[in-house]
Amino acid sequence: MIPLSSEPVPSTADAVIVGAGINGLATAYELAGLGLKNIVVIEKDYIGSGSTGRCGGGIRQQWTTEENIRLAQESVRMYEGMSAELGYQVFFRQGGYLMVTESEDDLPALRKAVELQNICDVPTEFLQPDECLKIVPDLDISHIKGATFCPKDGTAYPFAVVWGYARACHRRGVKIFIRSKVTEVTADQGEIRSVVTDRGTISTPLLINCAGPWARSLAAMVGVKLPNRQERHEIMVSESLKPFLDPMVISISNGIYFSQSLRGEIVGGIGDPAEPQLEGPESFDTSSGLRFAVRFAKALLAYYPRAAQVKMMRQWAGMYDVTPDHRPILGGIPGLEGYFHICGFSGHGFMLGPVTGRRMAQFITTGRSDKIINSLSLDRFERGDIQTDAFVVG
Ligand SMILES: Cc1cc2nc3c(=O)[nH]c(=O)nc-3n(C[C@H](O)[C@H](O)[C@H](O)COP(=O)(O)OP(=O)(O)OC[C@H]3O[C@@H](n4cnc5c(N)ncnc54)[C@H](O)[C@@H]3O)c2cc1C
Repeated sequence: MIPLSSEPVPSTADAVIVGAGINGLATAYELAGLGLKNIVVIEKDYIGSGSTGRCGGGIRQQWTTEENIRLAQESVRMYEGMSAELGYQVFFRQGGYLMVTESEDDLPALRKAVELQNICDVPTEFLQPDECLKIVPDLDISHIKGATFCPKDGTAYPFAVVWGYARACHRRGVKIFIRSKVTEVTADQGEIRSVVTDRGTISTPLLINCAGPWARSLAAMVGVKLPNRQERHEIMVSESLKPFLDPMVISISNGIYFSQSLRGEIVGGIGDPAEPQLEGPESFDTSSGLRFAVRFAKALLAYYPRAAQVKMMRQWAGMYDVTPDHRPILGGIPGLEGYFHICGFSGHGFMLGPVTGRRMAQFITTGRSDKIINSLSLDRFERGDIQTDAFVVG
């Protein structure tokens, strides 16, 4: 049982965190660890009901910017110790990530990325197509031109991670309220005053926006305009098979990714360039479509023909919370004391959540920012400090 608060929401709190996905819970856990008391997490649905419970669970350090590499590397260290730290099995498994391309043109970028990752002590190597067979023996390499492999990348079970954080939060005194929706936030004289929920009003000086794809609507309640938009992504799971696939395989050519869970299922997805651009908080279409099933199946068979007889068991959709440069937005807002956001993670918020939660908790409690938080502040869009990572895939 996840310990949940069943009493009415308290009338006061030292901090209110909106969203019980990985970001909200990791931040609550870290803040409580730093000594902040009376922390309340408000979740409109259930724990992990947003993007976190709909994600692929992939955790990789293979990026092209030092910022992403360093953040992911720190997160991997946290995932390595997470089951012990939270006292809960999160099923983190380091089978590696095999990142492939079908284009000769990508090879210089792959080699350059390996160089940078190695400088950061991430043990990625460049592979010729036939070397991929040592990692995934039945991979069809006929159209693969090159690949990179990092054995320290991996996957974790998203629900176990949020359940683990929720329990650990509870042990630290954090109160989590599910089925409770934030409908309004009041601020006065440049300071956060209260959070109104459909179960009562909480006076608080601190509001942390971890609302994932709803972060923009929440920010709008305090007059903050986020450039985020939602992007619908589908994903599927197959019947269980004997273990045959150690790594997550991901293609930077067509965006397919697939791995095998500890229960033996193939879990995978593929981005769809034809997916309509969604605008507005009401755009949360999480229905499943045949178009995805067909696209995914074709792309999977092109890389792994032996999957032809495998049955798809279930597919679902979730939302990416996407910023113009696909980097998260962290920090506060000048002139609005007590408001912070941790959002905009596109397709990589599960892997970065633990480390951004930790860094933001430090920032919130001490006021001391760090280089990465500074570079991810909202005003970067005005400053024009936009540096998209070339390996945003999915
Ligand atoms: C199909 C798919 C595959 C993905 N695969 C990966 C992957 O392999 N690796 C990876 O790193 N990332 C992946 N991602 C991205 C990842 O899931 C997200 O970046 C991450 O989960 C974001 O976490 P979060 O806590 O910020 O948001 P969420 O998990 O969305 O949590 C936000 C929560 O806020 C709640 N909320 C919102 N508004 C309110 C309100 N007004 N009042 C109360 N509660 C509110 C919501 O109900 C929700 O539970 C994937 C995403 C999708 C959709």
